[in-house]
Amino acid sequence: MTTTRFAPSPTGYMHIGGIRTALFSYLWAKNNSGEFKLRIEDTDLKRNNEDASQAILQAFEWFELKYTDKIVYQSQRFDLYAKYIQKLIDQDKAYYCYLSKEELELTRKENEKNKQSLRHNKKYRDYKGETPDIKPTVRIKAPNSGKIEFYDKIKGQMSIDATDMDDFIIARSDGAPTYNFVVAIDDALMKITDIIRGDDHLSNTFKQLLVYNALEFDVPSFYHVPMILNESGKNYPKEMVLLM
Ligand code: GLU
Repeated sequence: MTTTRFAPSPTGYMHIGGIRTALFSYLWAKNNSGEFKLRIEDTDLKRNNEDASQAILQAFEWFELKYTDKIVYQSQRFDLYAKYIQKLIDQDKAYYCYLSKEELELTRKENEKNKQSLRHNKKYRDYKGETPDIKPTVRIKAPNSGKIEFYDKIKGQMSIDATDMDDFIIARSDGAPTYNFVVAIDDALMKITDIIRGDDHLSNTFKQLLVYNALEFDVPSFYHVPMILNESGKNYPKEMVLLM
């Protein structure tokens, strides 16, 4: 069965691109006699805005967009995400990274000098020695070679070299899980089969694929739709919100 979702972050009001994604996802589910679900991505506790959450729900009412199941709020699932972080550490698919701000800055400068995209140094990837007395982040182990690929149902075959992928952070030093990590977990647990979203998320998809693989989840189909741009090819200003 086809299951789609809309997964807004309530950090700003609903704009035209957001409601377009929601409509496409809803209509695609209906077209396939499937289900459409709603998830509020409110993990950024500092930037969340209760009014924006309400505005999303109002927009759903106004457009008569009906979703199945209860709304999933990511802020209520931190314990669940913590279990998956621990699982990846236990399986040696993720590791604690004790790089200091200074070391990271040094690596950044070196990358810049060598005209490399931003990559942290992998000092702690298989580290066995003593660890510095700083709160670590948790990083997922990206493959060292080969390609990371998926077939986008709008854009076709998408591929990057694994060496272009960093061991990216899945939990910050305060334990908070990161966006690309929780999105993949929730889409898998909510049994989403078709992910439709703006193509500003393309680079995130490669990261999320690593999470699917590491946790041995089934990979859904992806559809990255072009952004809605104004006549000069720029994003509409954030203030172009739906007023209802
Ligand atoms: N929360 C993300 C956003 O509002 C969307 C996540 C997704 O569709 O995967 O941009």
